[in-house]
Amino acid sequence: PTTGDVVLDVRAIRKQFGGLVAVNDISFQIRAGQITGLIGPNGAGKSTTFNLVTGVLGLTSGEVLFRGERISGLPSRAIACRGMSRTFQHVKMVPDMTVLENVALGAHLRSGKGALSAMLHWDRAEERQLFAEAERQLRRVGMGAYLHHKAGDLSMGPQRLLEIARALCADPALLLLDEPAAGLRHKEKQELAEVLRTLRAEGMAILLVEHDMGLVMDICDHIVVMEFGTHLMEGTPTEVQQSEKVRAAYLGT
Ligand code: ADP
Ligand code: MG
Repeated sequence: PTTGDVVLDVRAIRKQFGGLVAVNDISFQIRAGQITGLIGPNGAGKSTTFNLVTGVLGLTSGEVLFRGERISGLPSRAIACRGMSRTFQHVKMVPDMTVLENVALGAHLRSGKGALSAMLHWDRAEERQLFAEAERQLRRVGMGAYLHHKAGDLSMGPQRLLEIARALCADPALLLLDEPAAGLRHKEKQELAEVLRTLRAEGMAILLVEHDMGLVMDICDHIVVMEFGTHLMEGTPTEVQQSEKVRAAYLGT
């Protein structure tokens, strides 16, 4: 996709849990070469939106188009195969394996085969290819110096970058990040921001759910604000920061 092209088109998506409307007819678009922030107070419906887009949860109504095709209703694996990758808030990795092995294993799992098959059956050609891809993605996020470090020895910042490298295997068009800056030190947040800027410059579309407003305002091109399951407003960081509605939502006044 070319920068500015709509990669994800979310149309009036809705999710009810019993009597609770967690996501209430939300619409927004995500464009190539842009970082879109999704923010809002706790319970606003951000995680549910994320799970609806990635197919982890089924929609009550509405639809989602990805690269022009309807994906709502498809299982999450099928959506991932079309070029959508996500990270999770809690990093899952094998602490005794190296960084490179962890990412190669992740790439293998993404290919649709099981973990056991990964351990027992990957043949030499496939193995070489997986490791080459893992190394390429690790270098892309600035983790070239950590390839052979034990994953369990990494501090939080490099752990998050490992997780992003894993999500980048298979070259997604859209990357969804769930609070990637949580628990990071200031310098690590700056390194994360730099990586996201690099990916953006390569044309990646990024959806960022994040609590750190400094980071959101610093790197997002466009921000969607949710409150109580509804779409409160959207705009540039400046527009969002100047919005009375947004201030009221956050300050509860
Ligand atoms: P956020 O990520 O913005 O903090 P969530 O999407 O996690 O918000 O939650 C939105 C609302 O939906 C909350 O009121 C939450 O309690 C509710 N909710 C989320 N998941 C479920 C679920 N599986 N079953 C029932 N209610 C849920
Ligand atoms: Mg959440």
